[in-house]
Amino acid sequence: MTQTVGTKIERVSVIGAGTMGAGIAQVFAAAGHMVKLIDIKDEFVKRGVATIESSLDRLVKKETIPLAQKIEIMGRVRTDTTLEATTGSQLVVEAVSENVDVKKKVWKDIASRVDQHAILATNTSSISISDLAATVPSPKRFIGMHFMNPVPLMKLVEVIRGLETDDATTATTLELCRALGKTPVEVHDYPGFVSNRILMPMINEAVFCLMEGVATKEAIDEVMKLGMAHPMGPLTLADLIGLDVCLAIMEVLHRDLGDSKYRPCPLLRKMVAGGRLGRKTGRGFYDYAKT
Ligand code: NAD
Repeated sequence: MTQTVGTKIERVSVIGAGTMGAGIAQVFAAAGHMVKLIDIKDEFVKRGVATIESSLDRLVKKETIPLAQKIEIMGRVRTDTTLEATTGSQLVVEAVSENVDVKKKVWKDIASRVDQHAILATNTSSISISDLAATVPSPKRFIGMHFMNPVPLMKLVEVIRGLETDDATTATTLELCRALGKTPVEVHDYPGFVSNRILMPMINEAVFCLMEGVATKEAIDEVMKLGMAHPMGPLTLADLIGLDVCLAIMEVLHRDLGDSKYRPCPLLRKMVAGGRLGRKTGRGFYDYAKT
């Protein structure tokens, strides 16, 4: 039997405690789920918990939630550094690095541990859901649940069915998104789905503009903010997303769509090779150590 619509999902595992994993763990814990936040090293899960704590502190400061609620939410987040901790989970959301081999290894390892009716969701930005689903024994329960960054603030979740995903898994996932206060939008399984098929080439083109000296980084961002009413410029957004994540997505679009228009900008490659990954390393197109 597959997990049916309305079945109460209480135990959630989030794999990967980086930019996205921490945010995803926060929204599930805030909605009353017991969450296990898992990463490969203790320092990474600690960083994830610190991210959740400071995000909730901001809400307390703004009087959006009382302190007692913050403590309650934090109390629902447990951490671990082994995938064995997923045992018994009713939902697993995988948010590890955007690398198909890393993701497949993780899924192979956890598929046998989780509740047999569990929903298996990946937060991949671009990798084929059907390809990842082929690594688990029950691909009908595998689905793309693509949250946006920053997760606590952004309403959208792209929900992507793989070839084998069944109706009950999709319906439960849509219902879960709504229960988190999000708006799910269903899209089909193609590289980059809709969000990154459109967003990433724009960011990549902004990096080309910078590399070719069309304008300064500030000017490029200002044009897109004031001229196109974007809330932040594409280079600032790339720093928020992580330049390694942007490059990984462009590589998937380029390889899987086979069109040279998706070639990653050499400057983007250079920044990633040099470790300038954006906010998470303190430096990307902009310097965050100073702010
Ligand atoms: P990140 O680099 O901030 O975090 C990834 C985390 O995964 C790291 O903490 C890393 O240690 C951990 N990890 C790697 N291998 C692991 C393993 N085997 N087991 C457990 N943990 C492991 O990356 P991120 O930005 O949080 O991205 C995670 C996923 O979310 C990617 O698939 C990415 O494409 C997607 N995503 C990112 C954004 C964004 O704006 N950054 C938005 C939507 C979706």
